[in-house]
Amino acid sequence: MAKPVFAETHAETFLLHGDEFLHTDASVTPPIPYAATFLAADAESFAGMANTERHPQYYTRYGNPLHERVAALIAELEHAESGLCFSSGMGGIAASFLALLKAGDHVVAQKNHYMATSKLLTELLPRYGVETTLVDQSDAGAFEAALRPNTRLIHVETPANPTLALTDLAAIAGLAQPRGILTSCDNTFASPINQTPRDFGIDLVMHSATKYMGGHHDITAGVVVGSKLLVDQIWHTAITLGATLSPMDAWLLLRGLRTLVMRVQRQNASALRLAQFLESHPAIGQVRYPGLASHPQHALAKRQMHGGFGGLLAICVKGGYADAARVIERLKVPAHAVSLGGVESLVVHAAAMWAGTMNDEQMRAAAIEPNMIRVSVGIEHVDDLIADFAQALD
Ligand SMILES: *Cc1c(COP(=O)(O)O)cnc(C)c1O
Repeated sequence: MAKPVFAETHAETFLLHGDEFLHTDASVTPPIPYAATFLAADAESFAGMANTERHPQYYTRYGNPLHERVAALIAELEHAESGLCFSSGMGGIAASFLALLKAGDHVVAQKNHYMATSKLLTELLPRYGVETTLVDQSDAGAFEAALRPNTRLIHVETPANPTLALTDLAAIAGLAQPRGILTSCDNTFASPINQTPRDFGIDLVMHSATKYMGGHHDITAGVVVGSKLLVDQIWHTAITLGATLSPMDAWLLLRGLRTLVMRVQRQNASALRLAQFLESHPAIGQVRYPGLASHPQHALAKRQMHGGFGGLLAICVKGGYADAARVIERLKVPAHAVSLGGVESLVVHAAAMWAGTMNDEQMRAAAIEPNMIRVSVGIEHVDDLIADFAQALD
């Protein structure tokens, strides 16, 4: 028998037991519906399956029972009515924008976004007649000044990649709602354990589930949550674009979610300790971490990040590009790799990563310094991380 969804419990409990599909057979773990297509009992039910929106057992690009349960859990975590899974974070973001925008629409977004999101907004969408204005995310007034009569969407990302600058979610929703403008927030960096943008009035929340939700640097996945009305609308476009999550990866994502709370809490605590250590180190020029009092938006962080300040920090070593590269080479514990949010700590040299898409001037405008290292703190013992940074900076 299906257990009731008990969303009123704490997230850790809910993620283990609050799954209405759980225990539908004898196994404690959920079965993997590894099927591209599903049987119809008779002619009448086939017609029903073929013509029902988001039928979970018709054809996996349209829906899959496991996708549905994973999306439902994440929607619950994000205080949303409905959710959809994708084969990557970008699959979800691109499908959402393409579903909600049409030629002649205008978008207001940030100067700093995940790189592929920036490209989508500034390179791909203009080819289809959608214009975007990019503003300084720390200035709510800049969003307001950029609004036009045809503004359809405000898209934000907070904390943003890679600068850890924040956007005031309540202020953005306050601008958009009275004007009938949609809002979306990429909540990947915070995770729903630390921040739930829906509570501030944001319509859609997107995640690269490749990061904290999957949590092990092994799958790529994405999820978009919001009202059923909006998510249904995105589904109609998503089935045409085809960024379908594999049932196996949906299962791994579900498995990752079981430990999400524990992992994120540890990552929050370790990142704060590491940030405090680095801030007092003479070889470090600057540490950007929303949990530090020195973060220019620390008060906002405390207001909108209820669970903690996340596992990501940006540090600027004293010196230039080559000095940052040398520190990364000397680090032994964190792996030198893109991505973030998993159990292993990772480091990347921000300026090297963005060199292919931004010139020096654009990087300066986006506050990406040549000596900046982005650190994704994993679940290693924090003393080992601190000792490793200490030896690399000596
Ligand atoms: C990784 C990431 C994405 C893209 O997700 P993929 O799963 O790689 O497609 C989008 N936004 C943010 C903030 C990310 O970190």
